[in-house]
Amino acid sequence: MIYNIAIDGPAGAGKSTIARRVAKELSFIYVDTGAMYRAMAFYLLREGVDRNNTELIGDTCQNAEISIEYQDGEQIVLLNGENVNAYLRTEEVGNMASVSSAVPRVREKLLSLQRKLAKDMSVVMDGRDIGTTILPDADVKIYLTASSLPRARRRYLELQEKGETCNLDEIQKDIEERDQRDMNREISPLRQADDAVLVDSSDLTIEQVVDRILEIFRSKTEKEVSHES
Ligand code: C5P
Repeated sequence: MIYNIAIDGPAGAGKSTIARRVAKELSFIYVDTGAMYRAMAFYLLREGVDRNNTELIGDTCQNAEISIEYQDGEQIVLLNGENVNAYLRTEEVGNMASVSSAVPRVREKLLSLQRKLAKDMSVVMDGRDIGTTILPDADVKIYLTASSLPRARRRYLELQEKGETCNLDEIQKDIEERDQRDMNREISPLRQADDAVLVDSSDLTIEQVVDRILEIFRSKTEKEVSHES
């Protein structure tokens, strides 16, 4: 049996940490689609493409081949064959990704790769449009959110741990701007799928959210098994 779990939500809601843990518990593959958009953004920044030039973003992305492989269960993003994981988690790349991901030709390039992964193996896939566009038939759909301050605080602590200087207000402003772009773009905007379960992680620990998602998955699949027998 191949199962697909889709987790969508705004930046900093804890999607990647939670999706990774759920995948580990179930021995599924974790697919981080944000990292694919970030790799594309990294390519555009490296090529010096102006973030306001939508036409040029669409043209330039045609020269970037994104693929992924797994090493010890970790997703490695390859950009034209080069492992670019080390460059993807900066604010600059995240902000560019939120602009370039609104360009239809960028999304088209990544859509088939994401669908193919979920067809070939059981995955927990996180992103913005997984439940609505990429995997509309996913077995479980979660919309994971939190208010912007706890999300900014998490990001702030993450950056501090990495030794980067940062400012909480600026991070919160950045997060809110990114939410606006992701939710209001024309193509595949971030929104809760009609059949997704809403989980607000503002006052929950990571373990509580993971347990909740595992519970939803188990009750759903148990129901399916009992229907079949
Ligand atoms: O999740 P992460 O912050 O790594 O994503 C970076 C950016 O990529 C997001 O702000 C969003 O604009 C874009 N993205 C997307 N669709 C996805 C995953 C990410 O548009 N499925």
